[in-house]
Amino acid sequence: MLNWMKRQPTQDDSVYSIPHNLARLYKTKLFPLEEYTRFQEFHSPLLDDAHFTSRPMVLLIGQYSTGKTTFLRYLVERDFPGMRIGPEPTTDGFMVLEHNEIDALIPGNALVVDPSKPYGGLSKFGVNFLNRFQGASVNSEVLKHVTLVDTPGILSGSKQLTRGYDFIGVLEWFAERVDRIIILFDAHKLDISDELRMSIQALRGNHEKIRIVLNKADQVNTQQLMRVYGALLWSLAKVFDTPEVVRVYTGSFWSNSLKNEENRKLFELEKADLFSDLQTLPRSYAVRLLNDLVKRARLALVHAYILQAVRGETGMFTGSSTKKKIVDRLAEIYNQIHKQHNISLGDFPDLEQMKHALATRDIGKLPKFKKDLVETVMYLLTRDIPPLMARINQEELKSDDNVLRGGVFDAGASPFNEGFDEGVDKGQGEEKWIVDEERERWEKEFEALIPNENGKIEGRKAKPHFVRTKLPNSTLGKIWQLSDIDRDGCLDYEEFALMMHLIYNVALEDYPLPDKLPDHLIPPTKRKPVLSKASSVDEDGELYPKLN
Ligand code: MG
Ligand code: CA
Repeated sequence: MLNWMKRQPTQDDSVYSIPHNLARLYKTKLFPLEEYTRFQEFHSPLLDDAHFTSRPMVLLIGQYSTGKTTFLRYLVERDFPGMRIGPEPTTDGFMVLEHNEIDALIPGNALVVDPSKPYGGLSKFGVNFLNRFQGASVNSEVLKHVTLVDTPGILSGSKQLTRGYDFIGVLEWFAERVDRIIILFDAHKLDISDELRMSIQALRGNHEKIRIVLNKADQVNTQQLMRVYGALLWSLAKVFDTPEVVRVYTGSFWSNSLKNEENRKLFELEKADLFSDLQTLPRSYAVRLLNDLVKRARLALVHAYILQAVRGETGMFTGSSTKKKIVDRLAEIYNQIHKQHNISLGDFPDLEQMKHALATRDIGKLPKFKKDLVETVMYLLTRDIPPLMARINQEELKSDDNVLRGGVFDAGASPFNEGFDEGVDKGQGEEKWIVDEERERWEKEFEALIPNENGKIEGRKAKPHFVRTKLPNSTLGKIWQLSDIDRDGCLDYEEFALMMHLIYNVALEDYPLPDKLPDHLIPPTKRKPVLSKASSVDEDGELYPKLN
């Protein structure tokens, strides 16, 4: 009995994640048809709980000492059980890092028999592999969203090591199941060894999952880095044997100080790009699960129709000559089903494989067509799936729920963030109003426009002054909205200065404009007073100080 069958079905779907909903839909709606039509004998094994409820996985590959284990520790921002880091090959096995409240080290033998985990298929690699397979349970927010897989350091040069198990086979197994494959290179000693070449070849068919990290890039100067980068691209193109360009992220992926600071800015940008790629994994994982389920449901329907047709043609005669006749006519049967049920031929199983599967079976014993099981699957496709698809799109909008968090992904706002002190963010946290830094210049221009007796310049009079900047009207309009704080259609000195600041230090410097004025840019006399015992609401009941 499969693990999830012991569980009670739940009815309130919305509180459960999309993968949980898909698991429930599979077991209640698709599984019965698959099981009845012996789908697993013809196509692929029936799915268990772990298929839906395990987390997206990221696989790390690289020659030894390229910083794989260090990279993982950097991502989760903590040490983990079984972690060993050093210059010689220290990680001699596969290790999966998973979330758990309590830190623990789990042996491979236990991992592959745990039905709640997706590693059952690894048992075929034998005891030598299982002795080199471990799980580290780590209490980490990052790992609540994604499982990380560390791999043994790949040997350099043409050295060969008998590992005692099918290393490439295990890599292939993981490559098919993970959502991202990160290959690390060391900028300091770039080398693509024979074993690495073979490993990359094992990733064939999963190229879209691959990201390259050129690590330790701070160990060389800019000129050396450019050479290494070029050499890496050239070598990769040869190994991958595909015209598609793989994205290479250059940087120093650990928390130690940079040896060479020349490219600090570049490294920060590259890191940000890689992290935003990884952060979308939980969402794309849900999309992939859903697409796979839809594909599978369509195939199950087609499978049921094929069996129905074959049974119909068999009639009373189940002998080998009848069987041969039917198998020969299978292409024709496909066409009939395609027309009758309006199913795309792309959803049909491979013709030759199906012929073979039928030829090796007693077609007299194929299950009869069961209309209710088929209708349940149609309902699944037409009624149950669309709302889930809509929910995925919705959750994309409130992206916070569905992205990687914790560890290095939670840097928070700080002076060390990219862009902390640039554009509209410049001056945040400072007591002085940043706009005043150029007070002399703004005052001179303000006076030149001859303010009225209230000390203001009317919009009509101010307009030509701003149009001179050649900024489009839409941009100037937006800046005006941000600057005319009391919305009286005029600018007092502070509003004018703010507008000039937004034009010259933000818009013309190509920084984005905010939709709402950040607190630190609000002119000092227009800020909400902090209510304390000393302050009180004035006679008009206004919290804002009176404008002069
Ligand atoms: Mg390692
Ligand atoms: Ca105003």
